[in-house]
Amino acid sequence: MPFECRGCWHVWEEDYVVRRSEDDHGNEGEVWLRAGLRVPPPSSGALCPHCGCEQATTFPDGYLARHPELIPPAEPVVPDATPLLSPVPRPLY
Ligand SMILES: [Zn+2]
Repeated sequence: MPFECRGCWHVWEEDYVVRRSEDDHGNEGEVWLRAGLRVPPPSSGALCPHCGCEQATTFPDGYLARHPELIPPAEPVVPDATPLLSPVPRPLY
């Protein structure tokens, strides 16, 4: 599920599993699982991993696919400037 922070506009995605459940009184509820652990529903305020604020809002699934401009570009691959040096100096002759 995509999230967006309203504080710093950081966009990220987290995988949640939503299970619908009924309690003993027949009240339907939603159980949010993340990595197998029960977590509070993100609608109550997800924590922004970027700035730590709780002003995150959720998007419907697939939103980011229609708005790829919101996804920050991946870090460009910087070639390793350090040449591969043999730790053992080669003999000069
Ligand atoms: Zn933030």
